[in-house]
Amino acid sequence: MQEILKKKFLEFFQFIQSTKRTIAILGGGITGLAVQEFLEKKKIQNLLLDDTPKNSNSFSARLHLKELPPFALLVKSPGISPRHKLLLECKENNIPIISEIELARNFFNGNAIGITGTDGKSTTTQLTTHLLKGKYPNTLASGNIGLPFISVCEENLEFVVLELSSYQLEDSEQLHLQASALLNISSDHLERHGNIENYVQAKMKIFDWENSRHTAILNDRQREIFNIPKNAVCKILYFGNSVNLDAFISGNQIKTQKFTYNTSKFPLRGKHNLENLAVALLLAEQFEVSPVVIQKQFESFQGLPHRFQEFLNYEGYIFINDSKSTNLHSMLAGLSGLDKEFFILILGGIPKVEPIDPLIQRLMTLNVEIFMFGEMCKVWKEEVEFKLNKKIHAFFELGSLIEYLTKNLKKYPACKIIFSPAGASFDLFKNFEERGNFFMNEVKKYLSHIQ
Ligand code: ADP
Repeated sequence: MQEILKKKFLEFFQFIQSTKRTIAILGGGITGLAVQEFLEKKKIQNLLLDDTPKNSNSFSARLHLKELPPFALLVKSPGISPRHKLLLECKENNIPIISEIELARNFFNGNAIGITGTDGKSTTTQLTTHLLKGKYPNTLASGNIGLPFISVCEENLEFVVLELSSYQLEDSEQLHLQASALLNISSDHLERHGNIENYVQAKMKIFDWENSRHTAILNDRQREIFNIPKNAVCKILYFGNSVNLDAFISGNQIKTQKFTYNTSKFPLRGKHNLENLAVALLLAEQFEVSPVVIQKQFESFQGLPHRFQEFLNYEGYIFINDSKSTNLHSMLAGLSGLDKEFFILILGGIPKVEPIDPLIQRLMTLNVEIFMFGEMCKVWKEEVEFKLNKKIHAFFELGSLIEYLTKNLKKYPACKIIFSPAGASFDLFKNFEERGNFFMNEVKKYLSHIQ
């Protein structure tokens, strides 16, 4: 089936090429520009549609279809809302629309694995890539991770591991992946998808239920929210904390049908990272990477920056940059295991639309001093202070917070200082990377002045 669809698409693409028709690209971000580069390499006329025109080939995305030069196919970037008027006009005029991922999939001849979920996608994508590399050196991580699939789809790779956001999945009809994993679902991203059912529905599109050679990996804890089709014939594997699962996580071990892995030398900390590892090793096992190689590979894995990254030990004060935590779920996951020890938590940014109660309940059980910065002070400070009956140190600027904290550090016993904002970075920064780098640099700067 996949081969037929692929053949049909490639024939259509060749037709566009030979008849010198145009392909439009909606969205001029990293992905849209990568699609344009791909089309130019193929000598296909293209036009780039964006609110702010990007280059000589681009037009305003605010124009109507009839105001634009004619085109035969539209490639949609993931950031564009499915309700964009040009998409609706294309549908009305029977102009086919394809996502960048689907376009790339049609040109890719190696094995493709997909990873999605609310949290842990980048970590698990990189980890799976690292495990597969133990047997297949020609393996690459791509997709939402910052390297568009279209930029590498014609490379001679044995495996590509794709990080897929729900936006990318929502836009794709069928990706025909060899194996896919859904890590977890939480209420993040509801602003765009409207409700949790639509969000789960988008994520479930990663699976190829009707293909007996496809492997689907799911979280046992969330079985009740998955709607697995009755006619599913693919292999379904579950990971979690019960003995009879395909990957059973218990203490320092992950047990699969093939092997009992010892995780005590796995460099990433926290229960959530053991879940990420369980998924990665199930995937690697599916493609015959031997357990001994898997064990060796995960012990040498180096985590990603801005994800619970321990970057400084200053006289016993351990500074952790978890700037990637942009919602409550990911922040709370990072705090697992901190039950009794005193620590300092820095929250901030723009909170997502999500209930605050899980935060309050968790903070009540912890021995924690809370700092807050940015937009979050306006939205959450009073409520958190009232419900916890505890003062929060609030600062509008992150720089002032760091200055105050570093000057007053010695008032607290040596402890962990965890920068895990639980809010989006756009109030004060371009993205979470800029925010994390700012935090690390400023902390080091102020502490060097103290010395
Ligand atoms: P994503 O790419 O999905 O945003 P990352 O791998 O970049 O996820 O991790 C982002 C943050 O989410 C991490 O800093 C960590 O706090 C948290 N996290 C990672 N894995 C998980 C998981 N399996 N469950 C819950 N939270 C997680």
